[in-house]
Amino acid sequence: MDIETFLQNESQHPTDYRCGFVAIVGRPNVGKSTLMNHLIGQKISITSKKAQTTRNRVTGIYTDDTAQFVFVDTPGFQTNHRNALNDRLNQNVTEALSGVDVVVFVVEAMRFTDADRVVLKQLPKHTPVVLVVNKIDKDKAKDKFALEAFINDVRQEFEFTASEAVSAKHGLRIANLLELLKP
Ligand code: GDP
Ligand code: MG
Repeated sequence: MDIETFLQNESQHPTDYRCGFVAIVGRPNVGKSTLMNHLIGQKISITSKKAQTTRNRVTGIYTDDTAQFVFVDTPGFQTNHRNALNDRLNQNVTEALSGVDVVVFVVEAMRFTDADRVVLKQLPKHTPVVLVVNKIDKDKAKDKFALEAFINDVRQEFEFTASEAVSAKHGLRIANLLELLKP
């Protein structure tokens, strides 16, 4: 693309074109990396059954006609032991959260633990936090009433701006989530 075409394309963006930073947080294994891979449509983060695979903050970018999302994947909060590595991981999380426009707090459907609560306690108070209930494809989440009750219970734990139930693995309701994050 030559510079004139580029500038012409740029000027065609609507004046309300939005751009923002999105931090994805949650305890290990809730599906943060899987979610980010689906959000940006390419595999650049690391997913694994083993906790703590993602040791560095990874940034992905998703652009569409009306908005640009800059995603930050985080290693998750390490709560069991204090050691140099875990301190670094926690520091990365704190760094990732400072100055973002919206935080996405991911939990696993039908499973809210003390480790989730620890992460919630460390979230910024003046930044919008969107609750994402992931893994709704799992058998235990198939009961719609039970899932709704679970989401309501988690919503009691924190003042979330909004919530969405998704399956990162199967790409379910990911588009809904992006729409919800736009404002
Ligand atoms: P992270 O530690 O939060 O980054 O979690 P990962 O993205 O590494 O995922 C942890 C495990 O959960 C992996 O085995 C994923 O395949 C699995 N997983 C992630 N999302 C889903 C989902 O929507 N449904 C199911 N069934 N499994 C998922
Ligand atoms: Mg990860």
